[in-house]
Amino acid sequence: MPEDCVFCAIVDGDIPSRTVHETDDVLAFLDANPLAPGHTLVIPKEHHQHVGDLPADLSRAVFDVVSELTPRVQAAVECDAANVGINDGEAAGQEVPHMHAHIIPRSADDGGKPIHAVAGFRPDLTDEELDEIAEDVRNA
Ligand code: 5GP
Ligand code: ZN
Repeated sequence: MPEDCVFCAIVDGDIPSRTVHETDDVLAFLDANPLAPGHTLVIPKEHHQHVGDLPADLSRAVFDVVSELTPRVQAAVECDAANVGINDGEAAGQEVPHMHAHIIPRSADDGGKPIHAVAGFRPDLTDEELDEIAEDVRNA
Protein backbone atom coordinates (compact mmCIF):
# COMPACT_ATOMS: atom_id res chain seq x y z
CA MET A 1 0.00 0.00 0.00
CA PRO A 2 1.39 3.42 -0.89
CA GLU A 3 2.21 5.43 2.24
CA ASP A 4 0.49 8.54 0.95
CA CYS A 5 -2.79 7.04 -0.30
CA VAL A 6 -5.67 8.86 1.37
CA PHE A 7 -8.15 6.03 0.73
CA CYS A 8 -5.78 3.40 2.18
CA ALA A 9 -5.55 5.67 5.23
CA ILE A 10 -9.37 5.66 5.43
CA VAL A 11 -9.42 1.84 5.15
CA ASP A 12 -6.85 1.67 7.97
CA GLY A 13 -8.87 4.06 10.13
CA ASP A 14 -6.10 6.69 10.14
CA ILE A 15 -8.41 9.22 8.46
CA PRO A 16 -12.06 9.30 9.59
CA SER A 17 -14.86 8.77 7.09
CA ARG A 18 -18.62 8.50 7.12
CA THR A 19 -18.92 4.82 6.32
CA VAL A 20 -22.26 3.78 4.83
CA HIS A 21 -21.48 0.16 3.93
CA GLU A 22 -18.66 -2.29 4.58
CA THR A 23 -17.82 -5.85 3.58
CA ASP A 24 -14.61 -7.86 4.03
CA ASP A 25 -13.21 -6.42 0.78
CA VAL A 26 -15.14 -3.23 0.06
CA LEU A 27 -15.78 0.07 1.80
CA ALA A 28 -18.35 2.72 0.91
CA PHE A 29 -18.31 6.16 2.50
CA LEU A 30 -19.59 9.66 1.85
CA ASP A 31 -17.46 11.92 -0.35
CA ALA A 32 -15.91 14.70 1.77
CA ASN A 33 -16.69 17.31 -0.92
CA PRO A 34 -20.02 16.06 -2.21
CA LEU A 35 -21.46 17.03 -5.58
CA ALA A 36 -24.90 16.20 -4.18
CA PRO A 37 -26.34 15.07 -0.83
CA GLY A 38 -25.53 11.34 -0.58
CA HIS A 39 -22.51 11.45 -2.94
CA THR A 40 -20.86 8.14 -2.07
CA LEU A 41 -17.55 6.51 -2.97
CA VAL A 42 -17.19 2.73 -3.23
CA ILE A 43 -13.63 1.40 -3.00
CA PRO A 44 -11.83 -1.93 -2.81
CA LYS A 45 -10.01 -2.09 0.54
CA GLU A 46 -6.94 -3.36 -1.27
CA HIS A 47 -4.99 -0.65 -3.12
CA HIS A 48 -5.34 -0.70 -6.93
CA GLN A 49 -5.31 2.43 -9.07
CA HIS A 50 -7.26 1.34 -12.13
CA VAL A 51 -10.54 -0.47 -12.54
CA GLY A 52 -8.76 -2.88 -14.87
CA ASP A 53 -6.19 -3.70 -12.17
CA LEU A 54 -8.79 -5.35 -9.90
CA PRO A 55 -8.65 -9.12 -9.63
CA ALA A 56 -11.94 -10.61 -10.89
CA ASP A 57 -13.30 -11.50 -7.45
CA LEU A 58 -12.59 -8.04 -6.10
CA SER A 59 -14.11 -6.41 -9.17
CA ARG A 60 -17.30 -8.41 -8.65
CA ALA A 61 -17.32 -7.46 -4.97
CA VAL A 62 -16.94 -3.74 -5.74
CA PHE A 63 -19.60 -3.69 -8.45
CA ASP A 64 -22.00 -5.77 -6.32
CA VAL A 65 -21.78 -3.06 -3.68
CA VAL A 66 -22.25 -0.30 -6.28
CA SER A 67 -25.32 -2.06 -7.58
CA GLU A 68 -26.81 -2.76 -4.16
CA LEU A 69 -26.00 0.62 -2.69
CA THR A 70 -27.15 2.92 -5.50
CA PRO A 71 -30.91 2.49 -4.82
CA ARG A 72 -30.27 2.67 -1.07
CA VAL A 73 -28.44 5.99 -1.44
CA GLN A 74 -31.27 7.28 -3.63
CA ALA A 75 -33.86 6.20 -1.06
CA ALA A 76 -31.89 7.88 1.73
CA VAL A 77 -31.80 11.24 -0.04
CA GLU A 78 -35.24 10.81 -1.61
CA CYS A 79 -34.45 10.86 -5.29
CA ASP A 80 -34.79 8.29 -8.04
CA ALA A 81 -31.75 8.92 -10.23
CA ALA A 82 -27.97 8.86 -9.98
CA ASN A 83 -24.84 9.08 -12.08
CA VAL A 84 -22.51 6.19 -11.35
CA GLY A 85 -19.00 6.62 -12.67
CA ILE A 86 -15.28 6.10 -12.35
CA ASN A 87 -12.54 8.58 -13.19
CA ASP A 88 -10.01 5.99 -14.38
CA GLY A 89 -6.61 7.60 -14.78
CA GLU A 90 -5.29 11.12 -14.39
CA ALA A 91 -6.39 12.32 -17.85
CA ALA A 92 -9.93 11.25 -16.96
CA GLY A 93 -9.87 13.35 -13.79
CA GLN A 94 -8.75 10.75 -11.25
CA GLU A 95 -7.24 12.67 -8.35
CA VAL A 96 -7.05 9.89 -5.76
CA PRO A 97 -5.07 7.03 -7.34
CA HIS A 98 -7.03 4.30 -5.52
CA MET A 99 -9.89 2.95 -7.62
CA HIS A 100 -13.28 4.29 -6.57
CA ALA A 101 -16.76 4.43 -8.05
CA HIS A 102 -18.78 7.58 -7.50
CA ILE A 103 -22.50 7.30 -6.80
CA ILE A 104 -23.90 10.80 -7.33
CA PRO A 105 -27.62 11.16 -6.62
CA ARG A 106 -29.45 13.30 -9.15
CA SER A 107 -32.72 15.15 -9.40
CA ALA A 108 -34.35 16.86 -12.37
CA ASP A 109 -33.76 20.39 -11.09
CA ASP A 110 -30.17 20.06 -9.77
CA GLY A 111 -28.54 21.87 -12.69
CA GLY A 112 -26.35 18.87 -13.51
CA LYS A 113 -25.66 17.13 -16.79
CA PRO A 114 -25.56 13.55 -18.05
CA ILE A 115 -22.32 11.56 -18.01
CA HIS A 116 -21.85 12.49 -21.69
CA ALA A 117 -20.80 15.94 -20.50
CA VAL A 118 -17.50 14.63 -19.10
CA ALA A 119 -15.81 14.30 -22.49
CA GLY A 120 -14.28 17.10 -24.56
CA PHE A 121 -14.76 17.68 -28.27
CA ARG A 122 -16.75 14.89 -29.92
CA PRO A 123 -14.82 13.08 -32.66
CA ASP A 124 -16.50 12.90 -36.06
CA LEU A 125 -15.93 9.23 -36.93
CA THR A 126 -16.91 7.47 -40.14
CA ASP A 127 -18.54 4.03 -40.16
CA GLU A 128 -15.22 2.58 -41.34
CA GLU A 129 -13.34 4.18 -38.46
CA LEU A 130 -15.92 2.87 -35.98
CA ASP A 131 -15.54 -0.62 -37.50
CA GLU A 132 -11.76 -0.35 -37.12
CA ILE A 133 -12.00 0.78 -33.50
CA ALA A 134 -14.36 -2.08 -32.66
CA GLU A 135 -11.89 -4.50 -34.31
CA ASP A 136 -8.98 -2.98 -32.34
CA VAL A 137 -10.88 -3.35 -29.06
CA ARG A 138 -11.80 -6.95 -29.85
CA ASN A 139 -8.13 -7.69 -30.53
CA ALA A 140 -6.58 -5.68 -27.71
P1 5GP B 1 -11.53 11.51 -8.22
O1 5GP B 1 -11.36 12.83 -8.89
O2 5GP B 1 -10.20 10.89 -7.85
O3 5GP B 1 -12.43 10.56 -8.97
O4 5GP B 1 -12.33 11.80 -6.90
C1 5GP B 1 -11.77 11.79 -5.63
C2 5GP B 1 -12.91 12.09 -4.67
O5 5GP B 1 -12.45 11.81 -3.37
C3 5GP B 1 -13.32 13.56 -4.70
O6 5GP B 1 -14.72 13.64 -5.00
C4 5GP B 1 -13.00 14.07 -3.30
O7 5GP B 1 -13.97 14.94 -2.80
C5 5GP B 1 -12.94 12.78 -2.48
N1 5GP B 1 -12.01 12.83 -1.37
C6 5GP B 1 -10.70 13.23 -1.42
N2 5GP B 1 -10.14 13.11 -0.20
C7 5GP B 1 -11.09 12.60 0.61
C8 5GP B 1 -11.11 12.24 2.00
O8 5GP B 1 -10.13 12.36 2.73
N3 5GP B 1 -12.29 11.74 2.50
C9 5GP B 1 -13.39 11.57 1.72
N4 5GP B 1 -14.50 11.07 2.30
N5 5GP B 1 -13.42 11.90 0.41
C10 5GP B 1 -12.28 12.41 -0.14
ZN1 ZN C 1 -4.82 3.17 -1.62
